Amino acid sequence: MITEILRKYKLNNLAIGTIGSHSALNIFKGAKEEGFKTVCICKEDDAMVYQKFSLADEIVLVKDFAEILNEKIQTKLKELNTILIPHGSFTAYISIEKIINNLQVPMFGNRKLLYWEASREKQREWLSKAGLKLPKTFQKIEEINCLVIAKLPGVKGGKGYFLTNSPKSFYKKVDEMIERGLLGREDIKKIHLQEYILGVNVYPHFFSSIINNDVEFFGVDKRYESVTDAIGRIPASEQLEIGITPTFTIVGNIPITLRESLLSELIRMGEKVVKTSKEIAPPGIIGPFCLETAITDKLEIYVFEISARIVAGTNVGIGTSPYAYLKYGENMYMGRRIALEIKEALKKGKIKEILT
Ligand code: AMP
Ligand code: AMP
Repeated sequence: MITEILRKYKLNNLAIGTIGSHSALNIFKGAKEEGFKTVCICKEDDAMVYQKFSLADEIVLVKDFAEILNEKIQTKLKELNTILIPHGSFTAYISIEKIINNLQVPMFGNRKLLYWEASREKQREWLSKAGLKLPKTFQKIEEINCLVIAKLPGVKGGKGYFLTNSPKSFYKKVDEMIERGLLGREDIKKIHLQEYILGVNVYPHFFSSIINNDVEFFGVDKRYESVTDAIGRIPASEQLEIGITPTFTIVGNIPITLRESLLSELIRMGEKVVKTSKEIAPPGIIGPFCLETAITDKLEIYVFEISARIVAGTNVGIGTSPYAYLKYGENMYMGRRIALEIKEALKKGKIKEILT
């Protein structure tokens, strides 16, 4: 299907498009620096962001991001010779099945892996198969016997997550969360229970290049989450008085550099994930991905999630990040790396290999 559509594309006049949110500025800036036009599918209130930075050549207004599936919008995107770059707002607001089956605009990346990413069970299967260390999971509420993080299904940016250490505390917390409007009763059955790893969060970003047959280590961030990152500012006695439930709503990201002796294992982990991705969904990961890890005081690296597309944490590297600098020198970042891969694929007549 995509090959058919590509046949009608003017390959010397491609545009790079994405939904106006998440990492769109990063993607558009990179596209422009590599000489592509850009198309931003966004909501009216947000259009000014892309206009302000002069990064969107075309703006397609929608009320809801899922309108990207509408025939009229898809036709417009195809007329503009658009290649879509998927990011977190695609997986958060559009049904994965519809992205895979109904979105006929060529996409940079492997769509099949978005489906693996969307399911916690599939993710676990992928990461375990790659031989990575994962936190324990609990099938039943009654089995909770250690500090556990309770996660809602889907990409919620940590919204509505909470910690618990026994079935009794679980039910108490659930009631509190419902009262605060952070959780619906119907969500209880869908909650995923995972061992809480006492360690610091580290999110390494990788780029799997089909053209160069290499897995590049691109940068690292940690997240700035509300309210968990605010709790330490309140003395413990007051925390107990007001009964705070730590939640993990993402607000931003902070760049980090790592102890150098950790790099070899992280790089190896990225390579193993790519190798396994080729077995579960050929041709495997195309382009950016990120492992969500927690590193303990014994320097054990646990992986609790994978994002098989650009993550917003790479925004900390817009311009340059230390690790991208080591390989590319100045001015290389994930948005630009994506555009560069598309450009190189075009030059080598391999564009079909990186689009799905
Ligand atoms: P948004 O369009 O901002 O609602 O983002 C879509 C999804 O991507 C959210 O539900 C979050 O899970 C995730 N996300 C957005 N921004 C960030 C960020 N800066 N860091 C990590 N995840 C993010
Ligand atoms: P997620 O939606 O899986 O990306 O998780 C959102 C946030 O919850 C992460 O950034 C972490 O701060 C935290 N988190 C998730 N899973 C774990 C875990 N197993 N152990 C410790 N913290 C976690």
